[in-house]
Formats: sequence, C-alpha cells, structure tokens
Amino acid sequence: MKFSAGAPITVPVGRFAPSPTGPLHFGSLLAAVASCLEVGAGTWLVRVEDVDRPRTVAGMSAHQLETLAAYGFKWSTSGVVRQSERSALYQTALERLISTGLVYPCTCTRSMLANDADTQVGVDGARIYPGHCRHWQPGDPVPEKAAWRFRVGGVDDPPIVFHDRIQGDQAQQLAREVGDFVIKRADGCFTYQLAVVVDDLAQGVTQVVRGADLLDSTARQIALVEALNGRVPTYAHIPIVTNPAGEKLSKQTRAAALPTVGEQARVAALWHALSFLGQSPPDALMRGGVETLWQWAAVHWSIERVPKQRSGGAFPKIPE
Ligand code: GLU
Ligand code: ZN
Repeated sequence: MKFSAGAPITVPVGRFAPSPTGPLHFGSLLAAVASCLEVGAGTWLVRVEDVDRPRTVAGMSAHQLETLAAYGFKWSTSGVVRQSERSALYQTALERLISTGLVYPCTCTRSMLANDADTQVGVDGARIYPGHCRHWQPGDPVPEKAAWRFRVGGVDDPPIVFHDRIQGDQAQQLAREVGDFVIKRADGCFTYQLAVVVDDLAQGVTQVVRGADLLDSTARQIALVEALNGRVPTYAHIPIVTNPAGEKLSKQTRAAALPTVGEQARVAALWHALSFLGQSPPDALMRGGVETLWQWAAVHWSIERVPKQRSGGAFPKIPE
C-alpha cells in the first residue's frame, strides 16, 4: 500500500515591521491590525526595522512595543528581531549576490547622478540609474567607498508580475520603472529593500500585509527573493491613511501618536482601524473593552472586505 504524504502543512507566518523613527500612528495601527488578523492562528512576528540607523530614535522601539501590548496585540514569543543586529546576515546575502554577478559596486556620487539630465525618473521619484558602473564583473577589484547595486536586467525583459490580494494583479518592469537599485550604501548601511527580503526569508514569512505605499517596492523585493533562491511570500497592500491635507501619515507629516492611555481611547482607535479596513464593527463594541473587540475581529475578519484602493482617505478623529 502506498501512503501519500499529502500537501505539507504550512503554518502562515506574518509580520508587522515598524521602523522606530517615531511613535506608532493610526497608519501603523492599520498595518498591525491587518497583518495580525490575516495570520489568524498562525505566527505573527514583530520586527524592529532599525536598519536605517540615522533615522532611528533611541528608545522608540520599546515605546512601540509597549503601545502594541497596550492595544492587546500578542506577538510570537520567539523574540523580536532587530535589523541593527543582523548585518552579518545581510552581508552573507550580499556576498551570495556578488558571487553570482547580480550586484556590482557603484562609485557614482549623488551629485554626479543628479547632473545626468537625460535619465528618466522612476517610480520613487528618483532618477533611474544610468549604469555607469555596470561593467564590473565578479573578480574585478572592488573600489573603496562603493555602494552595491542590484542589476535589474534589460528594458526588454518581461515585467515582474504578481497578484496582490487586495490591490489585484500588478506588473512592474524594473529596468524601465526603477533601474539598478542600491542594496548596500557607500556608508556601509544595508538598505530597506535588502534587509526586508533577507529577514522575511530568514523568519519564514509566508504573507506580507502592509501599507500600499510599499506596493512599488514589491517587484524589487520579489527580484531579490528570486536571486536568493527563496520562496516568494503572498502580498496584500492595505490602503494608506492620509492626514486631512491628503499626505501619507508619517513622522514628517506630524502624524498624531496613537493614544496609549485610557482603554476607551484605545478601543476607539482599534474600532476605527477595523472600520477603515472595511470590517464594519458594530457600534456597541465602541463602548466595550479591547478584548471584546479583538474577539469580534478575530471571528469576522475578512481580507475581501478591505477597500481595493491605494489610499483610503483621511484618518478619523479619534476621541482622546
Ligand atoms: N519598516 C517599514 C515601514 O515602517 C515596513 C516594511 C514592510 O512592511 O515591508 O514602513
Ligand atoms: Zn555608479
């Protein structure tokens, strides 16, 4: 008799990965709520994305974790990973990419590139790298003070396509829309694009749920996952929240910190987050406790109800 092993049982692994550059705001709460509820009974991780050290604010990651705890989030006890402690892992990935010829050192300065008037502007608003340093091959001398760029292939290559579980089918032609991008800066800092991919692979993340401001980074990240022979996670990009002026909430636009004191204020913020995410929580739950609201959310959460748009409008006025 032949036994079939059947499909491997995969426990979903999701994550919330705030950068400790300021207190969590309503936009952060949306990403935390959506990623946590979508993972259901699977593993939900919290990762401290402090790879960009100059932007990291001392003590902020502890404050962010306290805020999450106050809102009743429960993350995996396997430990909170900090990108600032993971340079060795990123370096190993970089070396793997160097050996396969997929990256090259770039000594172009910002001002040199800014003066390249005939280069196109890419999805980030930055100029597409014109490829001055692309001739480098593994084994060639490595110049001092070089950044490392990932080769995205040619303008005639097929685009990277993926299905976003909220935003639908996406396609991005990296050479035309992004260009060869930096994965390690000349100052020795690894960039968000590499760190996030290496961490998601190392932590076995199967589903990425985050704000739609990162939709344009996804094709780059898929290219890196594939270059590292990893398994591409599923993606779901929730609409971002704006301030009344229509700007994305961030420290720069002075997003209000989430209220942490007073259960009623936290319940209200959580209730509004669920509502913004299309989940229609009953009004009565606004007057209950955090725990009751979480119980309702765990039962009723459906990603299908999240509005299929990149921006969901201004954030609601949360009573203090
Ligand atoms: N650290 C990023 C941020 O705070 C999120 C990265 C991600 O979810 O991929 O915007
Ligand atoms: Zn260069």
